[in-house]
Amino acid sequence: MEEVTMLKAVLLDISGVLTEDGEALPGALEAVARLQERDLTLRFLTNTSRRTSAKVCEDLQALGFDVAPAQVFTAPGAIRRYLARHRLCPYLLIHERLEPEFADLPSGQPDAVVLGDAEQRLDYAHLDEAFRLLLDGAPLLAVGTNRYFRQAGTLHLDAGPFVRALEYAAGVEAHVLGKPAGDFFHAVLEEAGVAPDEALMVGDDVECDVVAAMDVGLQACLVRSGKYCAGDEDKAPEARCEASLADLVEALLATR
Ligand SMILES: [Mg+2]
Repeated sequence: MEEVTMLKAVLLDISGVLTEDGEALPGALEAVARLQERDLTLRFLTNTSRRTSAKVCEDLQALGFDVAPAQVFTAPGAIRRYLARHRLCPYLLIHERLEPEFADLPSGQPDAVVLGDAEQRLDYAHLDEAFRLLLDGAPLLAVGTNRYFRQAGTLHLDAGPFVRALEYAAGVEAHVLGKPAGDFFHAVLEEAGVAPDEALMVGDDVECDVVAAMDVGLQACLVRSGKYCAGDEDKAPEARCEASLADLVEALLATR
């Protein structure tokens, strides 16, 4: 197939594709190793906002994945780069474990709101404080608009619903810096030195991984692991769909 012969890079969503609940999914380690053997450029993407980029990389390495820090792209990492570039001081509505990601930014009167999956911190008082900053003109920077994530077999609220709540209250539009933002995918491709149609995005979130990647010209594959729900493939009829990363790699390499 033509689409396969021109493939140079594979962008792998982490949670639900490589791992679930901190464990490697069946066949994922071997699948990644097989892609690496074929000299495909690999990048590891996540909107996960409960861990720093460095910790995401360490956790993958601890599971046995051969990954370097420069190959890991997280939404919080994209927000940190944005804040630094625009010299903004953030009001951080984020998980406490993510705080080191922003530790080297200047502190002072906040002039930007950063919203991530802050878990228990997403309470009335914190959201209310963020709301007032937005009314004062602070931009709303969001890790993503994922509706939910899957943990221990159950779906849980992600940051997206809270982003929408603040947008609605303050009459603003969030600047999304993780998936599904096209800029996020473009930043990864630029760093990897490949064109959009030379890359394949693999994800378990049909909207934020698959449709979003295809919207900016990437090939995409939905895997039926992680948060996948029956019928998700109907939302992206043009995308490839495989039971797992292992199945995708098997099919990809058979045609190379
Ligand atoms: Mg995922």
